[in-house]
Amino acid sequence: MYKTVILGSGPAGLTAGIYAARAGLKPLLIKGLEAGGQLTQTPEIGNWPGAFDNPSGYDLIDKLTLHAQNLGVEFKEGEAVSCNLTDGIKTLTLDDGSVIETKTLIIATGARARYLEVKGEENYKGRGVSACATCDGFFFRGKTVAVVGGGSAAFTEALYLASICKKVYLIHRREGFRAEAILVDKLKALSTEGKVEFILNAKVKEVKGDENKLTSIVLDLKGQDSELALDGLFVAVGHVPATSIFKESLSLDEGYIKVGLGKGATSTNIKGVYACGDCADKVYRQAITSAGTGCMAALDAEHYLLDSTFRE
Ligand code: NAP
Repeated sequence: MYKTVILGSGPAGLTAGIYAARAGLKPLLIKGLEAGGQLTQTPEIGNWPGAFDNPSGYDLIDKLTLHAQNLGVEFKEGEAVSCNLTDGIKTLTLDDGSVIETKTLIIATGARARYLEVKGEENYKGRGVSACATCDGFFFRGKTVAVVGGGSAAFTEALYLASICKKVYLIHRREGFRAEAILVDKLKALSTEGKVEFILNAKVKEVKGDENKLTSIVLDLKGQDSELALDGLFVAVGHVPATSIFKESLSLDEGYIKVGLGKGATSTNIKGVYACGDCADKVYRQAITSAGTGCMAALDAEHYLLDSTFRE
């Protein structure tokens, strides 16, 4: 029986691990399917306070992992596939069939990439369609690609791809962008050189290919269909929280775990269960806010154990 189990190895889960270990809770951290989470796919982080050398997401996660390991956090590969959450002992079943019991649970499962769900997209995933430029951009060096989306992720991906591809289209469904102004300015500067082209008020209708790989997309441009020849399509239209195994037991809001329902800002509707990072945040979704709520979740778990008869 563990005092604290943490699900997820992004900035929220790792920070929770660091704080829980320092509080003597001997936490077990289950890494999840994508160890390190979304941050590992970010080529450059320019807004982690103090890290003005703009480390890659992978490097930052590596340091946080090492920090947690040095403090004695126990790591386990795999993911939880089902759970039984009660106010007493919480039980998790992992994908390798093992069953784990814990007094407190910190959920930091993050979010997964959202796709466009248009004709042909599923067919060409991994054969031209990707949701991660850092992972797959390498295969498109010197080629023509498009990024879909108007948020910071789309702009970060487009900037990276512009450094290795022949041409990058940024396709967005309206004219205004959600992305940070600094990223918009950088990409606009590249568009004056012709390397980047913005296609606005446009929706991707269909992904086409030759059965082996993507060759073009069909765009809806204000009601008019237009075909664009491409080698790769990078989808960056947000994320959906990875919370499906909790939908029977936890209160959710559009899939995000509701917090602040008990004692502590990260408390859920079940005593001893806390949620932090992107699985519980549809507003801020930054690495630093995830880390902050990870810290809060570990403190909330520690306070709960101190107050309860459960501690030993
Ligand atoms: P986001 O900010 O929610 O942006 C998603 C974009 O996708 C929006 O422009 C949205 O359009 C568009 N979109 C959504 N569904 C669509 C669909 N079905 N078809 C076409 N377009 C669609 O998500 P994000 O860019 O992944 O960023 C998530 C969070 O991470 C944000 O808080 C962001 O600041 C942060 N982030 C920061 C950095 C950085 O600081 N460098 C990098 C990456 C991410 P509308 O605008 O029309 O809704």
